[in-house]
Amino acid sequence: MRFILPVGLIATTLAIAPVRFDGEKVLRVKLQDEKQANIIKDLAQTNQLDFWYPDAAHHVAANMTIDFRVSEKESQSIQSSLDQNKMHYEILIHDLQEEIEKQFDVKEDIPGRHSYAKYNNWDKIVAWTEKMVHKHPEMVSRIKIGTTVEDNPLYVLKIGKRDERRKAIFMDCGIHAREWISPAFCQWFVYQAAKTYGKNKIMTKLLDRMNFYVLPVFNVDGYIWSWTQNRMWRKNRSKNQNSNCIGTDLNRNFNASWNSFPNTKDPCAETYRGPEPESEKETKAVTDFIRSHLKSIKAYITFHSYSQMLLFPYGYTSKLPPNYKDLAKVAKISTDVLSTRYETRYIYGPIASTIYPTSGSSLDWAYNLGIKHTFAFELRDKGKFCFLLPESQIKPTCKETLLAVKFIAKYILKHTS
Ligand SMILES: [Zn+2]
Repeated sequence: MRFILPVGLIATTLAIAPVRFDGEKVLRVKLQDEKQANIIKDLAQTNQLDFWYPDAAHHVAANMTIDFRVSEKESQSIQSSLDQNKMHYEILIHDLQEEIEKQFDVKEDIPGRHSYAKYNNWDKIVAWTEKMVHKHPEMVSRIKIGTTVEDNPLYVLKIGKRDERRKAIFMDCGIHAREWISPAFCQWFVYQAAKTYGKNKIMTKLLDRMNFYVLPVFNVDGYIWSWTQNRMWRKNRSKNQNSNCIGTDLNRNFNASWNSFPNTKDPCAETYRGPEPESEKETKAVTDFIRSHLKSIKAYITFHSYSQMLLFPYGYTSKLPPNYKDLAKVAKISTDVLSTRYETRYIYGPIASTIYPTSGSSLDWAYNLGIKHTFAFELRDKGKFCFLLPESQIKPTCKETLLAVKFIAKYILKHTS
C-alpha cells in the first residue's frame, strides 16, 4: 500500500504536454444537396473530424455551410474526396497551431496582469472577481454557487443594489470551453456596469432598478483545460462510466427535451448530454441558483461563439414559442443596435431554424421554467478566425455586444412585470 500513493501522485502530477495542432486545417464546405451532406457524414465516420459548425456530424444537412477541423494526416484525403465529388470548399485555417499562437496579438501592459483587451486564464479571472468586489463594494458582490467536478469554485457576480425583490437578469459565459470570447464579454460587462454607473444614463437607470447576475465562466474545468492542455476543448472534465472519453457537453445537460436526440448519447461525442439531466455539478449549481431566484429573474442570456447570431427558443422543436413575436422584435432591435457600432451583421431567430435543432440546452430549459425572455448570443466572427478570434477583436466585440445587452435589459425593465 505504501507505494500506491506516490505512484498515483506521480501519474497525476506529471504534466502532459499540451496538444499541438501543427498542420491541422479548418475547412468550410458549402453543401449543395442531400448527397453531399451524406458524403460528409460518411467521411465523419472514418475520419477524426471536429465539427465547428454545426457542432456535430448529425446536424449536417443539405444546403448548409459547414466548418470542421481535420488533422494534417487526414486533410489530403479529405480534400481529394471533396474534389472528386465536385464539392465547393475553402480552407478557412491553413495551420491551426499558427492561428492559436496568433490570437494573442495584443501586447500586455503589465506582464501577468488581468486585461480587458486580452484573454485571461482562470487564475486571473478569480483575482479579477475579488478586485471587482473590492473596488465596488456597494455595487458588486460575489456569490459562490457551487463547485466543479475538479473542485474549482463557480462564482456569480451580482451587480446592483442589495434588494432581492428587484427584477434581475441572469447571464452566463463560457459554457463551452474553447469559446474564449464569451468569458471576455462577461468580464467586460461587469467592468462597464460598475464603472459607468452614475455616468452613463442607461446603465445608471438599469442599475437603479434591477440586478444582474453574471457567471463569467460556467465551465471552469474545461476552460482551464483549454488553456493548459487542449485549446480546442469544449466539454466539461467529468469522467464517464464505461468510457475512456472525458466530459459532458453542459449545454446538452439541461432538462429540456433531454432524451429526445439519440445522437447525444455517446460519451465520446462533443455533444454528449451526460448520464441524466443535470448530472453535472456545474449544470446543477446553475439550475439550483436560477430556480431559487426565479421570482426576480426576468431574462436569461447565454454567450457562445462563433457565427454572429442572436438566438431564442426553441432548440428542440420547430414549434414557435408563445411569445415568438415579442422575442423576434427584441432580437431584431438588439441586432440592429449592435450593428450601429462597427456594422457587424447578425442574424436572429429560434435556435432550431436559425442554427440547428438541439436538445438539453440552457436556453430552452430557462424558457420552460418560466423565464420568458431567453437569448443566446453567438459572438464574432463568421468564420475567418472562428474560435481563435484575435485579442485585437475583444474590445470591439465587447463594445458592440454591450449595446445589444443594454437594449435587452431596458426592454425587460419596461415590459416585464
Ligand atoms: Zn457554444
